[in-house]
Amino acid sequence: MASQMKDKEAYQRLNYLYQAAHCVLSQNPENKELARFYCFTQRTIARRLVLRQDPSVKRTLCKKCCSLLIPGVTATTRQRSNKTRFTVLRCLSCGQSKTLLNNPDYCLWVDRPEAQLQQQKQPDQGPSLKNQPKDRKPDGSQQFPSSHR
Ligand SMILES: [Zn+2]
Repeated sequence: MASQMKDKEAYQRLNYLYQAAHCVLSQNPENKELARFYCFTQRTIARRLVLRQDPSVKRTLCKKCCSLLIPGVTATTRQRSNKTRFTVLRCLSCGQSKTLLNNPDYCLWVDRPEAQLQQQKQPDQGPSLKNQPKDRKPDGSQQFPSSHR
């Protein structure tokens, strides 16, 4: 239980940093370096504590330089099609690009029922499918740590 609370705090920090990066970029698009610093810190924490970040968060972070990828501000986005359609998101700072498949029916591993089985090993979780996604949600306003300034 104690470790679960600790993780929750770490997730709140990740959430805070992620929102802070968005915030400084929206105030001034010149704040790329600051946003990258926040995202870099976010990645460092996630790696050190071995926390899994939500795919929606990972898709907006450059793998190479840790920039926050916002189309039109720090990244370009293009549609490509071969046999299937892709969205190519390219980081304007370092040139690294991400290719995402355009398939609305695609099911991520974390959303599959098999992925949930590993997490049920933890004791005292109870019938807790409902509190697993909650910890990972990046945009839940109730997780914004207003007491941490
Ligand atoms: Zn980059």
